[in-house]
Amino acid sequence: MDSLADKDHRYLWHPFTQMRDWMSEEPVIIESGQGAILRDVNGREYIDANSSIWTNLHGHQHPKITQAIKGQLDRIAHSSFLGLSNEPAIQLAEKLVAIAPRGLTRVFYSDDGSTAMEVAIKMALQYWQHRKQPQRAKFVAFADAYHGDTLGAVSVGGIDLFHSAFRPLLFDVIRVNEIAHVAQILREHRDAVAAVVIEPLVQGTAGMRLWKRGLLGELRRLCTELGALLIADEVMTGFGRTGTMFACEQEGVTPDLMAVAKGLTGGYLPLAATLTTEEIFHAFLGDYGEFKTFFHGHSYTGNQLGCAAALANLQVFEEEHTLKALQPKCDQLRAGLEAMRQFPHVGDMRHIGMIGAIELFQDVAAKEPFPLTDRMGIKVCTEMRQRGVLTRPIGNTIVLMPPYCIRDEQLERVLSVLAESVQTVP
Ligand SMILES: *Cc1c(COP(=O)(O)O)cnc(C)c1O
Repeated sequence: MDSLADKDHRYLWHPFTQMRDWMSEEPVIIESGQGAILRDVNGREYIDANSSIWTNLHGHQHPKITQAIKGQLDRIAHSSFLGLSNEPAIQLAEKLVAIAPRGLTRVFYSDDGSTAMEVAIKMALQYWQHRKQPQRAKFVAFADAYHGDTLGAVSVGGIDLFHSAFRPLLFDVIRVNEIAHVAQILREHRDAVAAVVIEPLVQGTAGMRLWKRGLLGELRRLCTELGALLIADEVMTGFGRTGTMFACEQEGVTPDLMAVAKGLTGGYLPLAATLTTEEIFHAFLGDYGEFKTFFHGHSYTGNQLGCAAALANLQVFEEEHTLKALQPKCDQLRAGLEAMRQFPHVGDMRHIGMIGAIELFQDVAAKEPFPLTDRMGIKVCTEMRQRGVLTRPIGNTIVLMPPYCIRDEQLERVLSVLAESVQTVP
């Protein structure tokens, strides 16, 4: 009899994974989870220190969310959103509009962060066609941005390691690296820019790089002044990750389009949404024969199970006062990471809300990075796994992004395991 591990190695292809390395190691096969804990098929327990790749908020098997999904399943799992509607999708849209930055009043569902970004990009482009300014067709995006893995999202993305192979399939984007550059581009290409795309407050996949405070607000003012739309990718930051419900709130910004996904269902089911303004929505209204329709949709758009999970997720925020309860844990995370600066090779620490990262350098003083081929981040995370803590590195950056339900002593454990593991680096 082949073991599960044998079958995994024989039949599967894992995302963002060098499969030759994968097939030479024993995989961790998860069987169950509870709160911040994941349990594998051998009964070993791990702390889920990256919230199952940034999705989980209130913990695994939260009774409220689990019950909501089970209850929905007793009625119906899925019916099409093309030509039909359903109760959880309607209730959730109302709720999202209520908590979103003021002025975002329409909700378009899709399945994951990448598709939510595709929708935002396509809406922005077609909006300008409807406004009789079809020459506004360029997108401005930041260096090292990450917006997902489908082709439109990859086009606005700027991480060469992931994206360069697909260049021939991508559309041209105006790449910028600072706000002054955006201002210059928007002035030079005054009537050519459809939208500027940004991960508000923090670039996630770039290694949890924080924008300077005020940049987002300034970007909003620039876009308004020069007529470009602003697309906020809140796929990672949405639903409390940066300490407020949405990152945009911290600078009083309402984007024209906002993508949410990962935390939307509390990490239970794939569901995403693109929120937009009444102005953009209205531009798509017209006689049938004008074909102003937004021709985009997915088989599982508005899926009832996902929407029921998302509604329960938002209910938990209210009932458990999650955002308030989170603050001391954010402080604990920051203090713990701050203390790691004392270790050799720890050259930078970055933190916002329930997101933390340390970056390792070969030579800290000279800010000389380890070559990627040294796989320092992977080595540290392997050490952490052996000590019962799961997370994934981004190059030489180790990310901690625990679920909000993590208990003080569990977070303390995560931090001490990281401290021990970092010291194993030669
Ligand atoms: C994860 C992520 C995406 C892509 O979401 P998927 O659900 O993985 O498609 C897009 N943007 C940001 C900022 C992300 O962190």
